[in-house]
Amino acid sequence: MKRILVTGGAGFLGSHLCERLLERGNFVTCLDNYFTGAVDNIAHLRGHNNFATIEQSVIDPVDVRFEEIFNLACPASPVHYQSDPIYTFKTSIIGTMNLLELASKTGAKVLQASTSEIYGDPLIHPQTEAYWGNVNTMGIRSCYDEGKRGAETLMHDYHRTRGVNIRVMRIFNTYGPGMNKADGRVVSNFIVQALRGDDITMFGDGLQTRSFCYRDDLVEGMMRLMDAPDEVSYPVNIGNPGEFTMRELAELVLELTGSKSKIVYLPLPQDDPMQRCPDISRAKEVLGWEPKIKLRDGLLRTIDYFKTVI
Ligand code: NAD
Ligand code: UDP
Repeated sequence: MKRILVTGGAGFLGSHLCERLLERGNFVTCLDNYFTGAVDNIAHLRGHNNFATIEQSVIDPVDVRFEEIFNLACPASPVHYQSDPIYTFKTSIIGTMNLLELASKTGAKVLQASTSEIYGDPLIHPQTEAYWGNVNTMGIRSCYDEGKRGAETLMHDYHRTRGVNIRVMRIFNTYGPGMNKADGRVVSNFIVQALRGDDITMFGDGLQTRSFCYRDDLVEGMMRLMDAPDEVSYPVNIGNPGEFTMRELAELVLELTGSKSKIVYLPLPQDDPMQRCPDISRAKEVLGWEPKIKLRDGLLRTIDYFKTVI
């Protein structure tokens, strides 16, 4: 049994990760300040003998001994991370540094939930880990993008100078049951709008692309990366290379829900990336991982979930 810390464990991905780690017989501690997560997401785990919670921000130092740390603490939806950009930046930078300090004292292994956003509005396509990115330092997305980039830098610096055992996972857009209906991300917005018969809010012309990974595939990749050999300290893209325009996504959601909602076109937010698709050759080679759930199947499961919560 390993003692594992999941920061951001009450969020969409973190709560599912806690479940999976408990199923494997670990002792799991969820640390969260409930900024975007919720106690409800982990309520079903609270009676479990091997589960503990700490209500705390990663911006404050953490002083408990763990063998593994999954650092997922950070608001992930543009609406939420832009609501308090200085908080978002502090969470990524100071939060990651606090966990790396803990790891360098205790010998814990740390996995950082990084993001495809570190590629910014990418000029190469699909994105490989070797690409350095095209990121604005001053825009409304910068608090998140540059925060995550800085967190990656800290991971590598603590690895080089203090010997911390690190894993860096670049997560591409992920969706699935457990998303907050008010999260603001495109999959949850479109499904909730379609189920309620509200207008579908399309930002820009809807020709921008994203590649959507189902939650369970993503969490499987995350656990494999943590278990990978120690030399895998370099970044690994985890995502589904199936690439769709936002118009294609809206049409699929309308078809699968049987909704009569209309698509309305609204301005594209500043610095919204025009295309995004992971090259997952490294994940296939190093982790033997690739996604299994196709968008249509994952959306059906997610629609079923949202029917129960709205
Ligand atoms: P989420 O917003 O549902 O979860 C984030 C969790 O972190 C929440 O429970 C929130 O309360 C917690 N949190 C925020 N600030 C904190 C702080 N200062 N201290 C402690 N806890 C804090 O988002 P998610 O989709 O589950 O994302 C989890 C991680 O994966 C994030 O780090 C995100 O950047 C990364 N990621 C997610 C996606 C995606 O598509 N879901 C894509 C790329 C990267
Ligand atoms: N988007 C949209 N309507 C919405 C929410 C998002 O058209 O109601 C677009 C957004 O402009 C972006 C894409 O969908 O181009 C994905 O947005 P999301 O916030 O899910 O994640 P991002 O990849 O931009 O961080």
